[in-house]
Amino acid sequence: MAIERTLSIVKPDAVEGHHVGDIIKILEARQFRIVAARLIQLTKREAQGFYQVHRSKPFFESLTEFMSSGPALVMVLEGDNAIARLREVMGATDPAKAAPGTIRNLFATGIEHNAIHGSDAPETAAYEIGYFFSGVELT
Ligand code: UDP
Ligand code: MG
Repeated sequence: MAIERTLSIVKPDAVEGHHVGDIIKILEARQFRIVAARLIQLTKREAQGFYQVHRSKPFFESLTEFMSSGPALVMVLEGDNAIARLREVMGATDPAKAAPGTIRNLFATGIEHNAIHGSDAPETAAYEIGYFFSGVELT
């Protein structure tokens, strides 16, 4: 298995709900290593830039409002097959469809307020890591 890096965000709903510690506990137990982390409140513009790919979706306005509504924890996670494995640990986008024990199953409250983001492919991981972190910030 290749060592990969992926971008994760503990979204504003999960920070507000005091789930940061529980989510990091799950990630560390699954052998993800945190190589960079920062708590930030995204501006609306930054949220729009991050979710560019969804700009024509009906949920874009509401999603970017939500993502800029409070502090979020952006992290770079490293590990074997990290990109696909993080998606597994997160669970499905819609928490009603997320497998038991996944982060979204445990902490999401709806399809939008779904607790965590994870990059979906190597190209998006590279773009998303660069969106928030410079090379010298990656330990
Ligand atoms: N989202 C939403 N409604 C939808 C689909 C997605 O509000 O019908 C939000 C949700 O917060 C999701 C984000 O938009 O995490 C990005 O959507 P994507 O399809 O990329 O899901 P993800 O990759 O986060 O599972
Ligand atoms: Mg996605």
